[in-house]
Amino acid sequence: MEYRAYFEDALGRLKAERRYRVFVDLERDATHFPYARWHRDNGQVEDVIIWCSNDYLGMGLDPQVIEAMRTAATCHGVGAGGTRNIAGTNHPLVALEGELADLHGKPGCLVFTSGWISNLAAISAIGSLLPDCLILSDAYNHNSMIEGIKRSRAERQIFRHNDLDHLEDLLKAAGRERPKLIAFESLYSMDGDIAPIGKIADLAERYNAMTYLDEVHAVGLYGPRGGGIADRDGEMGRIDVIEGTLAKGFGTLGGYITADAPIIDAVRSYAASFIFTTALSPALAAAARKAVQVLKSEQGVELRARHQRQANLTKHALSAAGLPVMANHSHIVPVFVGDAERCKAASDLLLERHGVYIQPINYPTVARGTERLRITPSPAHSDGHVAHLVEAMVDVWQTLQLPLTETAANVVPFRRETDDAHCTFPDFKKAAE
Ligand code: PLP
Repeated sequence: MEYRAYFEDALGRLKAERRYRVFVDLERDATHFPYARWHRDNGQVEDVIIWCSNDYLGMGLDPQVIEAMRTAATCHGVGAGGTRNIAGTNHPLVALEGELADLHGKPGCLVFTSGWISNLAAISAIGSLLPDCLILSDAYNHNSMIEGIKRSRAERQIFRHNDLDHLEDLLKAAGRERPKLIAFESLYSMDGDIAPIGKIADLAERYNAMTYLDEVHAVGLYGPRGGGIADRDGEMGRIDVIEGTLAKGFGTLGGYITADAPIIDAVRSYAASFIFTTALSPALAAAARKAVQVLKSEQGVELRARHQRQANLTKHALSAAGLPVMANHSHIVPVFVGDAERCKAASDLLLERHGVYIQPINYPTVARGTERLRITPSPAHSDGHVAHLVEAMVDVWQTLQLPLTETAANVVPFRRETDDAHCTFPDFKKAAE
């Protein structure tokens, strides 16, 4: 049998649908975030600026976090040594779990090797342990939650995205006595919109349902100590399970759930995707804990304020220049394109001509016809970087004849900083002037 042909055909289908993904080979610069070196296929290396990282606050390059990892690796080595059951539980990991339980005000926490695995493990275990459980899942939930629900074998009903009336209809129809789990996200990362957490908690109380909240795109970034949107809204105590990642706001790797002790113990004891995989390394656990500690502190408050400022500035500046920014109340800046090929072309041109790296977002990550560029400004993006981005985006939109909105393309609504300390690379310094 010619096996190879099956794989080539499968790839050919993706290419025909314009869904084939190309990765950009980047080398992040720990001393000059958000800059990176781009290794081109032809062997050349060029400087670029990253505008689409989910290391939202740059914690992955924070000197304190790097030092914590270095020290832990020196003291404890780089590997965990096994699954949690077989020699894998290490002291930095236990300390990290304590730090995260405290962040969310919960009695217990369990750390996994990624946010994806935490959703798979926790939802599948909870859904299978509750007899005749009905899982009510927001239509825009992330793939990891969907996989967890599938694996639980519990019945799933999908409620329209952030639609409280629809959710209430489903809860009412299920009856008070049937075990129910409402699974949703606090901040949906592709549109940047935010769930009505308090109102969902009201419904859960009224209809006797458990709540499972994915705060992956909000932990570290919102709330007085970085506990996420539920922390900001004062709703953490009303949510049964809060899930988060260590890989985005906290800049490292791994995921976790926090909840009441018996829920944590049950997931620890029943979830195959926790039990049968090697634990997070002590060096990663120590680095993640340091990032959590920093973001709980006054430094975190300042970073979050600067993050929101730069995100708002970017949205404002792009909109004023006529770019079709999709409105939301979060740090995500999606710019609508609406076509897979043109989205990829815009991304390519930004990189080639302007040294701006923004990955195109195509189906299946978003619905067909809603393809977009997803921009994630960080506290390290200066006002000069924003000015450079606006110029680059307008040029690309004009070159590709993508529609600009009514607003005049030459509006420059903010003052450019000429003495920008972050602009150390000559090209960018020039652009920011
Ligand atoms: N949940 C949501 C909503 C996500 O967007 C992601 C990843 O982007 C995950 C979970 C998985 O998190 P991780 O990247 O830590 O595996």
